[in-house]
Amino acid sequence: MKLKFIRALIGLACFKLAAYGDPVITLAQHYPFHPANNTAVSFRISVASATGISKIVFTLNALECIRNADGTHGTAPRPGSQPNLITISYPNPRLAVDTTITIAAGFPAHTYLSYQWEAIDNAGTASRRVRGQAGDSPYGNEEVLLYATGDDQPKGAYHICFVPDSRDYTGPLLKFLKDLETTVYKGYLTNNMIRGYEDKWAFYYTPSRADFIQKEIPEAVAASSILDAFGFIHIRDYRDARNGKCFSSEYNMVGTIVHETGHAIFNLSDEYSPSNVLPNSCHIYKNKADCIAANSGQGCSVIRTKWFGKYYSTEPLSPNCIMNNDGNALMMEFQSRCRECIKAAYAQLELRAHGAPAFSKFPLAFSTDDRVLVLKISFNSKGWAAAVTGLKAGKSSLAIGVQKSVMVNVLDSSGRKLYEIGLDDPRIDEIDDQGKYDQVSNHKKMAQRYLMLPYDLRIKTVEIASKTLKNTQQVKRVAVGKQVAKLL
Ligand SMILES: [Zn+2]
Repeated sequence: MKLKFIRALIGLACFKLAAYGDPVITLAQHYPFHPANNTAVSFRISVASATGISKIVFTLNALECIRNADGTHGTAPRPGSQPNLITISYPNPRLAVDTTITIAAGFPAHTYLSYQWEAIDNAGTASRRVRGQAGDSPYGNEEVLLYATGDDQPKGAYHICFVPDSRDYTGPLLKFLKDLETTVYKGYLTNNMIRGYEDKWAFYYTPSRADFIQKEIPEAVAASSILDAFGFIHIRDYRDARNGKCFSSEYNMVGTIVHETGHAIFNLSDEYSPSNVLPNSCHIYKNKADCIAANSGQGCSVIRTKWFGKYYSTEPLSPNCIMNNDGNALMMEFQSRCRECIKAAYAQLELRAHGAPAFSKFPLAFSTDDRVLVLKISFNSKGWAAAVTGLKAGKSSLAIGVQKSVMVNVLDSSGRKLYEIGLDDPRIDEIDDQGKYDQVSNHKKMAQRYLMLPYDLRIKTVEIASKTLKNTQQVKRVAVGKQVAKLL
């Protein structure tokens, strides 16, 4: 009896919290996205409260971007610099506040910005911290942090790098950076499975332009040990596609961008066409046994859509899901099964093993384990080729040993397998022109990929095992021992 009473009280307390909860921050942004040296930067917060906001506190730390001894990006305090603290009080508390603070002098080159908003009402405090870079980046064409709200450890977030399409962004990158404000602020951060999970995302860009058609990850960022996917951003209306970690979209087709990210990050299949049911897809299966196995024996039935053939899922698909209808310039929501897939992926994020912390606070000790060999795999009219093109600081970040349509085996002098790396076939794109083109894929005549291998002098041969487009197995062996020895 007594226990029940206490439970009822706890229930009441929870209800009270829900009804008069802490303030809710709906937006915390800075403009421009990547400020130039010593130019004005504006910081904006939008927050709502049931009881009325009495105070807003803005804390700004401008640190210096440095490179850690192991090659990763790090930060250090600038001598003599203090955090900037600005407090705004509201003698008459307000139900909603949308305010902007501008730092007119801006920040010098190599600045790492870390700012925090706190909003205080009668019930409590809500806070959000945002990180990004300002001024010239000391990292050249390597990834520049635009916007992240999580902590400095990379394992808890997906890291997306935007690549300017060299056919559309030919002039200064100011236009590209302005466009990315739309991509991130009006795109990603408004989607139902990203809004409220902002801390699980970090957005970067590379100043290195690349051609959307080739979808070659620029070498400066291909070696990054933290980037999960590469968004090729363009302006003109091209057919969009996803190929492994690469995807494309117009900067302002916000529905398309999140749809493609659904493929590249969550391995979600298209729901409008059977052509793009991915291997290991989370919500749609090509056969019933796979569906049952992946869903702990749950019932799996044929999805009845306009599709031909039989495909399986544990529940009917919603026609409004962004994986069915990406809405182009409209932001659609992830529905039902897709939402569950994404929640499960978020829960696994903390468990991810990532090579090195991004922007770790203190330089790390150098060790030879932190060096990697850059291996270029390419395909053209003469077939597959492989070359070890460099040695650099970093960690091998590949899912080694995963079975994929192209397998790269790295062998020692006696032909023993040292490493086995699975790749999505870089020659094949999944086309995402909804409805109009229901074809499986686009086969490219040229493609290339950079892989990071552990630094290992035993490496003598690279073997590429793949299938021809007519489905016969082919194996190409390339001797790379001399190239590896030269890099000593
Ligand atoms: Zn798609």
